[in-house]
Amino acid sequence: MSLSFRSVLGVAAVVAFMVGSLGASLGAQEAGDQLCGTCKTTGVVDLEIGSKWLNEYERGDGWEVLYCSEAIAEQDMALDWMPCPRCKAPSLRDQAQARWDEVYAEKHAWLKERRRMDKLATANDIVHLETTHFVLAFDLSKIKTSKKKTYRTHDAAHLYARRMETFYRHYQDLLGVVDKDNMRNKHHIYIFEKLRDAMNVGPAYANMSSNTTARRSGGVEHNSTLVMYYNKNVHTSDEDLYRHWIHSVTHQLTSVYYNPNWFEVGQKGLTPPWLADKYGWLDAGLAHWFEIDLDGQASTHCSQEQDTTARWKGGDWRKNVWKAVMAEDVPSFPRVISTPTQALSPQEHQFVWSWVDYLMTRDAKKMSLAIKLAKMETPTREILKKCWSTSMLSFESAWAEWVRVEYNPKKK
Ligand SMILES: [Zn+2]
Ligand SMILES: [Zn+2]
Ligand SMILES: [Zn+2]
Repeated sequence: MSLSFRSVLGVAAVVAFMVGSLGASLGAQEAGDQLCGTCKTTGVVDLEIGSKWLNEYERGDGWEVLYCSEAIAEQDMALDWMPCPRCKAPSLRDQAQARWDEVYAEKHAWLKERRRMDKLATANDIVHLETTHFVLAFDLSKIKTSKKKTYRTHDAAHLYARRMETFYRHYQDLLGVVDKDNMRNKHHIYIFEKLRDAMNVGPAYANMSSNTTARRSGGVEHNSTLVMYYNKNVHTSDEDLYRHWIHSVTHQLTSVYYNPNWFEVGQKGLTPPWLADKYGWLDAGLAHWFEIDLDGQASTHCSQEQDTTARWKGGDWRKNVWKAVMAEDVPSFPRVISTPTQALSPQEHQFVWSWVDYLMTRDAKKMSLAIKLAKMETPTREILKKCWSTSMLSFESAWAEWVRVEYNPKKK
């Protein structure tokens, strides 16, 4: 299926490692400089990158690694170059040294700012990482993937950053979202092994604390921030945690979708958490859609959503919804669309997912327009008409017909 996240991951796995790029980019030779064999008269020598630091040079479609606390703490900052140590061209070496000092000052200023968080936490092994769209603080001692590969803290932080960048691209491409229509293009995700650390960092960085995941986003003056406690009873595997990040980041991405140019001067549309409050079916439906898109399961119910222990039938949402449609026992669409996310029942969570699933299949790119129209307080019936040329009534019957065919367990 063309919408599959797995297929996107396959492409992203082909990452390019850029090594030794800075080489001959410095200025011209001056009087007093002699030919230098060590640096080929550039002032700079290339360093080989050890396997431990290949993460730092990773880049993907539209993203790269910008800063990593572990790399910066190294004497050579895990850079792939240094000023020539015994240079016969002193002016070139001085230029290289000045550039190195600049990089040092910039990276260490970043690290100092990030390390301020450590004072609030008991953990002393927090890895801080920044990529193009994400800033992570990560202290999980290890992650074991389904392929039985174990990642220690530093590599695990890079793994999750890579996954989120890949997801970011997937989300935007699928829905037709572009960076200029987001009020924030940087999302902070902090995860802690100890509840106490998450509870202490939450108020300072997200203006709130939670015993699960605290979220802050969409307000003009606020960063998009998630502060998580890694509850191993809830996220029993790497997949569970990965899926939880996808669900949570989806909420962040819809929340920051706001471009002042959409509005007349003086207007700015609904304020956060508008999507959860007024369009719970879209808010929860999309977050679940991207979970199921990942590996067929949905397991996150955010702190303000329904009780996580309450369930409606088994884990196969397709089958549950199909059976209900066949039995003509489905919740009313006009009623559920006015229900805020936090008031949706476990059964309704599965139907809002399915309604979004149907609309995504009809035209996924229209979803960005739907979110924009929601931000502009457009009634759902008009959103359906403008985005998918359907009325409320025909939507319900067309959806049910589609479910009968597409979710039929015999179809696989
Ligand atoms: Zn690193
Ligand atoms: Zn030299
Ligand atoms: Zn949610």
